[in-house]
Amino acid sequence: MIEPSAATGDVICSRAECTNEATWLIYWRNPRIHAADRTKTWSACDEHHEFLTRYLESRGFPVSTESRSTR
Ligand SMILES: [Zn+2]
Repeated sequence: MIEPSAATGDVICSRAECTNEATWLIYWRNPRIHAADRTKTWSACDEHHEFLTRYLESRGFPVSTESRSTR
């Protein structure tokens, strides 16, 4: 997985080999390796938003998502 860039411009879905523009941000944390105040961010397109969220949830990670504003 590639970390989404904080730079401006299009954000691409974090799903491997997906080049869709991300429309969701997924915030998650691995309690085993991340401190409580450390949150990772993935980006996701509509197609993979559910996939990525479930992937993280299935590992028992705390997950929250928010829609990206494109304007
Ligand atoms: Zn995608």
